Amino acid sequence: MRKLFFLLLFLSESVCCQNKIPTDYFNNPIEIPLILSGSFGELRSNHFHSGLDIKTQQREGIPIYAPAGGHIKRIKVAHYGYGKALYVQHPNGYSTVYAHLKKYAGKIQEYVKKEQYKIEKYTIELFPEDTLLAVKKGDLIGYTGNSGSSGGPHLHFEIRDANSRPMNPLLFGIEIPDTKKPIVSSIFAYPLSDSAQVNKSRNPIKLRLISQKDGSYKVEKCTAIGEIGFGISTIDQQNGASNKNGVYQITSTFNGEEKFNVLFEKFSFAETRYLNRYIDYQYFKKNRNRVQKLFRESNNPLSLIKNDAENGVISIEEGFKSVYTIEVRDFKNNKITISIPIEGKSEKTSIPKKDNTTNDFIYANQATSITKGKFSIYIPANSFYEDTYLQIEAKGDTLKLHKDEIPLHKNITITVDASNYDKKDLSSLYIGRLNYKGDPYYNRTSIKEFKLSARTKILGSYILATDTTEPTIKAVSFENKKWISKNKTLKIKIDDDFSGISYYKATINGKFILMEYNYKKGVLTYNFDDDIISESENNLKVIVIDNVGNNATFEATFFRK
Ligand SMILES: [Zn+2]
Repeated sequence: MRKLFFLLLFLSESVCCQNKIPTDYFNNPIEIPLILSGSFGELRSNHFHSGLDIKTQQREGIPIYAPAGGHIKRIKVAHYGYGKALYVQHPNGYSTVYAHLKKYAGKIQEYVKKEQYKIEKYTIELFPEDTLLAVKKGDLIGYTGNSGSSGGPHLHFEIRDANSRPMNPLLFGIEIPDTKKPIVSSIFAYPLSDSAQVNKSRNPIKLRLISQKDGSYKVEKCTAIGEIGFGISTIDQQNGASNKNGVYQITSTFNGEEKFNVLFEKFSFAETRYLNRYIDYQYFKKNRNRVQKLFRESNNPLSLIKNDAENGVISIEEGFKSVYTIEVRDFKNNKITISIPIEGKSEKTSIPKKDNTTNDFIYANQATSITKGKFSIYIPANSFYEDTYLQIEAKGDTLKLHKDEIPLHKNITITVDASNYDKKDLSSLYIGRLNYKGDPYYNRTSIKEFKLSARTKILGSYILATDTTEPTIKAVSFENKKWISKNKTLKIKIDDDFSGISYYKATINGKFILMEYNYKKGVLTYNFDDDIISESENNLKVIVIDNVGNNATFEATFFRK
């Protein structure tokens, strides 16, 4: 009975909501031809892409118009991530999101600036009252840009449902011309059970793809035994651009039955990090290529995936012959198929199972504390997706905490005992993760007596690092004691070695001025439109503090009328 109830609930929800998606409610947010540099659900670092990245002709400042009426419900200005972002609530329950903006428009921009001056800070998050910033369909709300962690000018555009789940905007009737088929770059087979093997290998193995005349692919016949699964590396391209975007759906069938189905229509932010469980994380870290595993492993609750009772895994017995088929399609239903003929055959293994055994074994569902040298590591339960052997070594001030080849779902805590340091030197210490060049990348570190701790979701090498140099501050658009009446902006370059910049503040004649920090260029910019300065002489003061508290002050005088 209970089962039936849930089945009915599920059916009614899926029927009602699929029919309800309005395809003529939202206009395009910008008035240039829509070409995508990123698609919905595309596989990104630690997340599925939650919207469309719309190319903006390599420029900033393209007007954004409200695609439907509603009101501004949230505004967030950050140095990283979405940069300048705008959230519009629409009366039909959906909301739209615009990120990496250059600036907001009209009343919105005035409101944000007023609030920034009120708190004397550039980064801000605002939730205006429903009636404060109403918008009508077609109202100018902002301008496209490249703010935050954006790698080039574009508009990141999202549509979210009433539960704040991002949905594929293409479902709402947004038209992107696409006559190109998805492209498959590789297919992998995964021996999953203890004795399973594929092509004599007991480890994941790449299969050879053969293109067919009709645009589909075949894979050379493989021999297998035991429980196995497959993985695929695939992208889609749309007309007018060569960007490698994500596909819309991947379906696999075996013996005529559907095994696995991933559909990029909707997900929740709470599940997005499970991407690391879904892709072959180790392969990605070694080859920068994301392989989607067409089987569901433990601790993978992704709602984007549907699978059969065997979780998409197939069982191959001696003498068995069949074909496993994968179909990949884009939103415009351009599709390709890959068929993999399989023959059941137990053969002598030529590639034995890799031995990962070490002294440190972690049960995924238990919390674990490990001490090595002056370091201790706390791993909460369910930080790992599966039971795992880790390679951990401590040598002096360095901790080798395995390699970033196993994903972590939760923060673990690294604590280091620094009691061999002088008390006066403690404040310049921090825990840094060594990057590929061997430089310590700052990890937010707290100090309690002689113990430093940092939280991280990345395995790798960590070091007790020290930063005793203060940040540098330089004028770039003006010179001390000179007239700059014609300048529209005031630009300052700031930089910090080792721990990085954590805080800055600028004043003119003792009054706060709003300076926008572009971390990618290391530049602070003040806009003279803000009207803070006085006639003729102006005294500028800029204070910059790094992550361990080293600070620098810069002072200059300029004249303006
Ligand atoms: Zn984006």
